[in-house]
Amino acid sequence: MSKHFVPENLPDHLQHYIDGKFVDSIGGKTFEVQDPVSNQAYATAAAGQPEDVDVAVAAAKRAFKEGPWSKMLPRERSRVLHKIADIVESRDDELALLESFDSGLPITQAKGQARRAAENFRFFADLIVAQHDNATKVPGRQINYVNRKPIGVAALITPWNVPFMQESWKLAPAIATGNTVVMKPASYTPLSASLWPEIFEQAGLPTGVFNLVFGSGGVAGDYLVKHPDVPIVSFTGDSSTGAVISTAAAPLFKSLSLELGGKSPAVVFADADIEAALDATVFGVFSLNGERCTAGSRVLVQRDIYDDFVARFAERAKNIVVGLPSDPATEVGSLVHQNHFDKVMSYIEIGKSEGRLLAGGGRAEGFPTGNYVAPTVFADVAPDARIFQEEIFGPVVAITPFDTDEEALELANNTKYGLAAYVWTSDLKRAHNFAHSIESGMVWLNSNNVRDLRTPFGGVKASGLGREGGYRSIDFYTTQQSVQINLNEAHSPKFGVQTSRKTGDA
Ligand code: NDP
Repeated sequence: MSKHFVPENLPDHLQHYIDGKFVDSIGGKTFEVQDPVSNQAYATAAAGQPEDVDVAVAAAKRAFKEGPWSKMLPRERSRVLHKIADIVESRDDELALLESFDSGLPITQAKGQARRAAENFRFFADLIVAQHDNATKVPGRQINYVNRKPIGVAALITPWNVPFMQESWKLAPAIATGNTVVMKPASYTPLSASLWPEIFEQAGLPTGVFNLVFGSGGVAGDYLVKHPDVPIVSFTGDSSTGAVISTAAAPLFKSLSLELGGKSPAVVFADADIEAALDATVFGVFSLNGERCTAGSRVLVQRDIYDDFVARFAERAKNIVVGLPSDPATEVGSLVHQNHFDKVMSYIEIGKSEGRLLAGGGRAEGFPTGNYVAPTVFADVAPDARIFQEEIFGPVVAITPFDTDEEALELANNTKYGLAAYVWTSDLKRAHNFAHSIESGMVWLNSNNVRDLRTPFGGVKASGLGREGGYRSIDFYTTQQSVQINLNEAHSPKFGVQTSRKTGDA
C-alpha cells in the first residue's frame, strides 16, 4: 500500500473570517479536526460561539445595508463571480488535494468536484445578467412590473460530503443576487472552506459580503439559524437536522431551503440496456464513497434478470478498488470520520440479518486502520428492512426483486424519503409514466446522475423543502415586489364624502 499523503503547507489552525479579517473565537474556544485516513488531529479550528456569530451577522448586515455589493449592477457582480470561477479553476489540483485529504474522497472524484464548484459561479454569473422579470399591462389602465431585490444576510449551513462543491452551490446564487452571507461549514471538513476568503479577496468581492464561522451545528449553527438579523437559511444535511432547523426558523418566518437525505431507488426493468444499467447502478451507490445524498442505494431489479444482474453487481462490487484517497487508482476511499464509519458498520451488521450478503460486509481487507469500508451488497432485502428504509450514507446497497410495474412503483415509493430516482427501461411510455408516478424531486431515465444546472434540485417528503438550481435559486435568494402603476384616473370609491349625516341618523 502506498503511503498516507499529507498535503504540503497544511495549516495547523483554522480561523473564522469575519468582516475581511481572520479571527479566532472571542472566547478562544477551538475544536480538533482529524483526517479520515490516520484519524489523527491535524489542526485545530476556531469554535464559533453565539458572540462570534453576532459579530459575523453584524458585519454581513452592515455590508448589505451600506453596499456596494447589494446595489451593484448585475454585470459588475457577474465580473467578480467569473473571476472567482477562474481562480477556483486555476487552483483545481490544490483544492482537490485538500478536499480529498480532509474528507477521504478519492482524488479523481475530488477533482471533478472542484471543477463543478467553479462552474456554479460561472453559471450564476451568466444567469444574473440574462435574468429578467415579466411586466404586464392592462391596456389604458395599468402597468405592473416586478422589482426583484436581494433579501439580506443569508445563513448557509453545509454538510461534510463534497464540502467545497456544496458550499459553492449555495454561495454562488446567494452572492450573485446581491445578498451577503454567513457560512457555517460542517465540523468534520473545514479545510477547503478556509480557502474561500483568499479566493474572494483576489476576485474583488467587497469586505463583509462573505463571512465564515466554524463551529458546532448545535451551537454556532443553531444560533445562526435563530438570529433575528438573518432572514434566509439554506441548509443541506440530515433530515432530522432539517426538522430542527425548520422549527427554529418558523417563528421568525424565514425563507427556508432544506436539501436533506435520501434513499433513492434505481429501478431496472428486464428490457433495459443491462450493461449501461449495471455501470450506472454500481457507480450510483459507490461513487463519492457512497456519501452522496442522491445515491441509488436501493436497486430494484425485475425478476427475469434478477439472479444474473445481482451476481454481476456483486462481482463488480468485489472488484472495486478501495484505497488511499490520494491514490489515482482508488475508486472508494476512506469514510469521512470514525463516528460515521461506526454508523455505516452498524448498518452492515443489521443488514446481515436482513438480506443475503454477497460482497463486502465489513472493514475493507488490507486496511486495519482508517475509515475504510468494503463495498457491500445485500440482495433479497425486504421493504420493511431497516437497510431498505434508512439512509446509510456509505458504500452499502440493498437489492430487491420485483415482478410487475405496479410492484416496482410501490417499492420505489415505500420510504419516507423522496430525493432522486433512476429508471432503466427501453420502453418509452413506461419510462415516462413510471417517472411521473415516482415520489421524488428528481428522476433520471436511462442515465446516471448527470446535472444540468438549470434544472430544479431538491426533494419531496423527508428529503426536503423548496428547490434550488437555475432560476429557482434566484427566486429563493431574492424577494419579488410587485409594483402597480395607474395609467388613468384613479377610480377609487369615494368613502366619507357625505356631509349631511348627523349623529343618531342611523
Ligand atoms: P448534519 O445534518 O449533521 O449537518 C449538516 C450541517 O448542519 C453541518 O454543518 C452541521 O454542523 C450543521 N448542524 C447540525 N445541527 C445543527 C443545528 N441544530 N442547527 C444548525 N446547524 C446544524 O448532516 P451531515 O453533515 O452529517 O451530512 C450528511 C447528511 O446530509 C446526509 O443525511 C445526507 O443525505 C444529507 N445531504 C443531503 C444533500 C441534499 O442535497 N439533499 C446533499 C448532501 C448531504 P456540524 O458539522 O458541526 O454538526
